[in-house]
Amino acid sequence: MLSAQEAFQLILKTVKPAPPEQRSLFDAWHCILAEGTVSDLNVPPFDKALMDGFAVKSSDVQNGKATLQIQEVIYAGSVPSIALQSGQTSQIMTGAPLPEEADAVVQIEHCQIDEAARSVKIDTGPVSPGKNMLPKASVLEAGAPVLAAGTWLRPQEIGALAETGSPTVMVRPAPTVAILATGDELVAPEESPQPGQIRNSNEVMLHTQILQADAKPQPLGIARDERNHLRSKIQDGLRSDFLLLSGGVSAGELDLVPSELEQAGVKQVFHMVNLKPGKPLWFGMLERADGNPCYIFGLPGNPVSSMVCFELFVRTAIRQFMGSPAPQPRVLKARLNHDFHTSGNRPTYQPAQLEWETGEAVVSPLITMGSADLNSTVKANSVALFPTGNQHYQAGLKVDVFLW
Ligand code: AMP
Ligand code: MG
Repeated sequence: MLSAQEAFQLILKTVKPAPPEQRSLFDAWHCILAEGTVSDLNVPPFDKALMDGFAVKSSDVQNGKATLQIQEVIYAGSVPSIALQSGQTSQIMTGAPLPEEADAVVQIEHCQIDEAARSVKIDTGPVSPGKNMLPKASVLEAGAPVLAAGTWLRPQEIGALAETGSPTVMVRPAPTVAILATGDELVAPEESPQPGQIRNSNEVMLHTQILQADAKPQPLGIARDERNHLRSKIQDGLRSDFLLLSGGVSAGELDLVPSELEQAGVKQVFHMVNLKPGKPLWFGMLERADGNPCYIFGLPGNPVSSMVCFELFVRTAIRQFMGSPAPQPRVLKARLNHDFHTSGNRPTYQPAQLEWETGEAVVSPLITMGSADLNSTVKANSVALFPTGNQHYQAGLKVDVFLW
């Protein structure tokens, strides 16, 4: 059976990053840059006052005291017209350009203005060059790189792009991800299940996971375990960039998903991965007539399996589609908080709670009643990997933890 690592590699080989498109910065949050950017100007573009006060030649105020003649008032957005000579100053506002020959600003609180004499008495600490000002191009020079391709855009990157003359950027779009829950036993969350029925928890959980992965969920409701119904729902789903099916992928008599996908022309890449939970995972791809592929995951129906398979594999595929330079889940070593026992002969990916204790990562695998026990996972923020089954792992041991 395929190992999880082999499954990751097959996913990365199969899923192609989407073609980049141009986007306004107002519409680029959580996108990944497809092309690096450079600054079209110096930052700051001029020697800039960082305080309201008086622009001075620092040599005039070396010991902190001086009386200087006021030349002009410089507001943010205006341009100074008088170069300072020794004994002279100009009043200046935060964000305004310093006049020529000025190399420092004394804050207004340390200045006493004599309107009649057009002078100002300064009483402050020693003033060295550069005080309360930011020199031209000290942050970035015109033409210097700002952000590299592959950068994930958060508010601060978006602000930096606006500042440096990139009002639009090239990014790869987020995929649309159709969700199709399968099963005759499923009813909507707002219904009271009749004997033998359960509520469809996977659809809304996957919907939320897709949102968390910065992609666009498209819920398709429930397909019954009946070929015609499933077939038409699959056709709806294959119009999206991704189709996630929940349930119907293992070896039961009514597990119709793999054969129906095949019948729809989907090429299977793999079925069955050596991990617990999530062994029945199915992955394939459809070359659509419009030239855009659709990537299809058949997720095991058990909610914990579905959740774990999404976080490990579907998220990797979504990141790859969006152009992430590191699509696989991040792994770190954490100290096991309590003894843990695994059974069976497959590597176990156990939902776990990761915490930081005085700078050290500590992981508590959550005790569950198996992959149908969704309630046990409400504290999970990671999965801890226990490489082989049937083993006792002692508290204090370092284990791999996948963040999500
Ligand atoms: P299956 O993979 O279809 O054999 O389903 C495995 C288990 O997961 C069964 O107990 C199903 O009832 C349950 N299950 C399947 N789909 C869902 C769903 N959408 N929400 C909650 N449980 C589900
Ligand atoms: Mg089923």
